[in-house]
Amino acid sequence: MKEDILHNLAVINERIKKACEQSGRNTDDVKLLLATKTVPPDRIKITLENGYTLIAENKVQELKEKYEDLKGIPHESHFIGHLQTNKIKDILKYDVTCVQSLDRLELAEKIHQRLLAENRTMDVLIQVNTSNEESKFGVNPDQATELTRKISNYSTLKIKGLMTIGLFSAETEKVRACFKILRNLQQDIIRENIPNVEMKELSMGMSGDLETAIEEGATIVRVGTAVFGARIYPDSYYWDEGKTNK
Ligand SMILES: *Cc1c(COP(=O)(O)O)cnc(C)c1O
Repeated sequence: MKEDILHNLAVINERIKKACEQSGRNTDDVKLLLATKTVPPDRIKITLENGYTLIAENKVQELKEKYEDLKGIPHESHFIGHLQTNKIKDILKYDVTCVQSLDRLELAEKIHQRLLAENRTMDVLIQVNTSNEESKFGVNPDQATELTRKISNYSTLKIKGLMTIGLFSAETEKVRACFKILRNLQQDIIRENIPNVEMKELSMGMSGDLETAIEEGATIVRVGTAVFGARIYPDSYYWDEGKTNK
């Protein structure tokens, strides 16, 4: 088990390095985030103990279940799933340092209020739906700048950039188009010069498309399957949840 995970991590590192070389980028400018949904703590620990310390969950329930087991090992924890407002206090309780999936004003306002009450701040990325798929969360690209502007008024939220899930397609150019949308949005927002907004992070690219994402400027790639193996739940279980019955 340990050997497999370490081997997979080495392969991913090599892929990141190659993609950086090919696009004239510095390897240090791309962070590897491990998407740990469905992965039990003993497997996650292997990565943490070997220097891969940036991890993320999609569901608050899993964050909670694994928290005690991982607490003693230094790491940074992001949140990349659909966040319901009634789970905000848990996100803070379990030491999430960045919510990458901030996609609506109501959620931003509620996180802000909670942070104010606890006298804390939090990093956030604005999640954008670049693939135009009904099943994925995220603000529409044409509303992303406006949402960013509104969220920037919440002093406790530190906007660090944008996040997206690319189209699932074997056609690289269609996937690339999603990443280009995110990159262009980033540039647009930078030009707007909005106070309290930093736009340095582009979280995009997963096991299957990280090379394309890096070529288009990704600063964080989120990898699960390629490190931990296939999951038993389909991704729709994580990505559609709450959308239809909300
Ligand atoms: C699961 C997940 C990933 C990682 O996907 P893999 O294809 O397993 O690498 C990345 N981002 C989000 C939001 C995810 O839910």
